[in-house]
Amino acid sequence: PLVLGIESTCDETGVAFVRGTDLLGDVTASSMDQHARYGGIIPEIASRAHLESFLPTLQAAADKAHVNVEDVDAIAVAAGPGLVGSLSVGHAAAKALALALDKPLYGVNHVIGHLAVDALVDGPLPERFIGLIVSGGHSNLVLVRDIARDITELGGTLDDAAGEAFDKVGRLLNTPYPGGPHVDRMAREGNPDAIRFPRGLAAGKDKHRHRYNFSFSGLKTAVARYVESIESAGGEVPATDICAGFSAAVNDSLTAKAVQAALDHDCSTIIVGGGFSANSHLRSLLAERAAAAGLEVRMPPLKLCTDNGAQIAAIGAALVAAGVAPSSPTFSPDSGMSLTQSCLA
Ligand code: ATP
Ligand code: MG
Ligand code: FE
Repeated sequence: PLVLGIESTCDETGVAFVRGTDLLGDVTASSMDQHARYGGIIPEIASRAHLESFLPTLQAAADKAHVNVEDVDAIAVAAGPGLVGSLSVGHAAAKALALALDKPLYGVNHVIGHLAVDALVDGPLPERFIGLIVSGGHSNLVLVRDIARDITELGGTLDDAAGEAFDKVGRLLNTPYPGGPHVDRMAREGNPDAIRFPRGLAAGKDKHRHRYNFSFSGLKTAVARYVESIESAGGEVPATDICAGFSAAVNDSLTAKAVQAALDHDCSTIIVGGGFSANSHLRSLLAERAAAAGLEVRMPPLKLCTDNGAQIAAIGAALVAAGVAPSSPTFSPDSGMSLTQSCLA
């Protein structure tokens, strides 16, 4: 079956065509340039940009994939989680197409799409696996026994998401927005052992109670205090060493807990997804620790880590393959859609 995927949860308008686990073509437009000067996403601007970009992006993706939109067998649209205005634009477009072409419509989970997209590069997903979802809005560990119908949440962040924490440290160090990729680059130039920052939930009682949870806000505050103390003493802020120490702390927690979850749940594979899975230190440290534990790690290539239509088409294709019924024709987007739900009823 040929599946059309439509992404519009935040600032990216993404469209892709997938057949089975083959990505035929995808195109992404982003309104990030318009948000960067505000230091954060402005929902109203994002919604308007989706309206302007949708049709050209759809046409460009169809051309790239060498398909006609009329030939699709099913349409998948990101139904949540995300910004309600952005979601509404994608939903309206997808619903109009589904009605006009008389095709089934699936309202799918954007975050689960971040995991499903890996099938387009590394082949069909394993029977069971641990998913490490790390993005601007999420840092979660999930046990996936069937991506279409059986996802259990093992844990998540108690405060900031990994990407969000990187963006906040970027702000402290005056990088352009979003700071994640800049902090990643600076971290590679610094000494990770120069400054030791705290690992949240790694010690004492917390260690057991929060076996699969994360906390990054204390770490972010520690970085802020460190920067303040240097500045008030009139010194020069060692930005690259700060980034390296901070990155070491975040990625130590993420990778240790992902490996632990796999060992505890008899999974031989960890799949990583979400914008923060583009982080170079996460990729190298996880590969190293998983190999040491005898586990396989699957990570999408960088261009499929950040938001795109392929992730939506991929989860749509998985639902079609599993024989899941389409969403109700009257479904509405759900800005707080649960991680354990791949598709809205
Ligand atoms: P969600 O997927 O939870 O709804 P989102 O879609 O807003 O959130 P993504 O677009 O998946 O988030 O990821 C964006 C985040 O990834 C930003 O916080 C960005 O800074 C971060 N990011 C991207 N590349 C890197 C990198 N190399 N290192 C660290 N962070 C990165
Ligand atoms: Mg984005
Ligand atoms: Fe995302």
